[in-house]
Amino acid sequence: MTVFEDLESQVRSYCRNWPVVFDTAKGSRLTDVDGNSYLDFFGGAGALNYGHNPDELKPALIDYLTRDGITHGLDMYTVAKGEFLTAFEDIILRPRNLDYKVQFPGPTGANAVEAALKLARKITGNEAMINFTNAFHGMTLGALSVTGNSMKRGGAGIPLVHSTPMPFDNYFEGKFPDFLWFEKVLDDSGSSLNDPAAVIVETVQGEGGLNPARVEWLQGLRELCTRKGILMIVDDVQMGCGRTGPFFSFEAAGIQPDIVTISKSISGYGLPMALVLIKPELDQWGAGEHNGTFRGNNPAFVTATKTLQTWWTDDAFEKQTIRKGEKIEEAFNAIVSETSPTVECFQKGRGMARGIQFQQDGLAEEVAAKAFEQHRLLLETAGPQDQVLKLLPPLTTSDDELDEGLAIIAESVRTVTGS
Ligand code: PMP
Repeated sequence: MTVFEDLESQVRSYCRNWPVVFDTAKGSRLTDVDGNSYLDFFGGAGALNYGHNPDELKPALIDYLTRDGITHGLDMYTVAKGEFLTAFEDIILRPRNLDYKVQFPGPTGANAVEAALKLARKITGNEAMINFTNAFHGMTLGALSVTGNSMKRGGAGIPLVHSTPMPFDNYFEGKFPDFLWFEKVLDDSGSSLNDPAAVIVETVQGEGGLNPARVEWLQGLRELCTRKGILMIVDDVQMGCGRTGPFFSFEAAGIQPDIVTISKSISGYGLPMALVLIKPELDQWGAGEHNGTFRGNNPAFVTATKTLQTWWTDDAFEKQTIRKGEKIEEAFNAIVSETSPTVECFQKGRGMARGIQFQQDGLAEEVAAKAFEQHRLLLETAGPQDQVLKLLPPLTTSDDELDEGLAIIAESVRTVTGS
């Protein structure tokens, strides 16, 4: 392990929680160099919704490489990109009555967010952005400026300007009507709020601690944006691609954002890829105005196409995710009722993005550490104080594997809390 500690920057993080050397992985399991098997409820931070090296996708990728298909293509027209766009339109957009142009930014979530913010500013001529408390949108400067976490913001080293935070759903635990402050400052010419170009919002805040926005709140936000002429950007980088059930997380609210960012699991294979979806009338980019060397990761297009054809031609996968999410919710509720007499905690989330929030700092991290050290289960934590134990297993995780992991979590919570 010394090469990592000797040579790799201090910035490394997940490997500090899981200090073993992984070698192979299949489905919801990873194997280390000593042959130990680990159950993965981390799912590549949402990039592995279909598990590791899925058999449904691998042959298409291998065939493509074997026939010397284009690997790197900037934004050139390629067969792989054409097939992806066709499948995306036929399988995802048209059946949902969604009309979007597709932009390929650089292949990360942050890059998609940067592109969305730039485009919204260009369209409206306004500099200001509205973001929400506890939001996370990525580590580049524009994305950080709309991100809540103070430690991450501090890393910028320069002032992060042109964004105004508004309370996310339930920030005041229902004590005030939705959008009371937002609407007040929008309407008040004395409020000092600059006219916003857009709001950027997650339907369920992933890094912020698995905070779900209610359907009514999202509908209210859409209505407010329309009424006030503010663009609505939904950042579906983590909750999109089926994490909460439907392909797009905003489908449950029946709303149509103006701009959508997608990344993480869009390739289906953990290969880097990102999309910005833009209402056709808002596609006001000049040619090359936002570019990037790795926009055309063609092997990712190949696996993305196969992913849509395999899992998204009907609603069976969506239903299965919702069912498995309910199973996790039930198990978490049981853990909470067993634990809360000793230690205050509650369950939160939607679909297969679920968490247990502990009121006492440090407990979620201790539980995750215990689950790894004693039971070889990978789990991460989320929230501004890492107070939420976060579950993001591949959506393809079997019921038996879910039972296995949920039992480990229950046992680890018991050990840590003494309940
Ligand atoms: N937006 C959201 C909602 C995210 O969860 C993330 C990553 N956790 C990002 C943007 C940034 O994506 P990336 O790390 O690929 O830049």
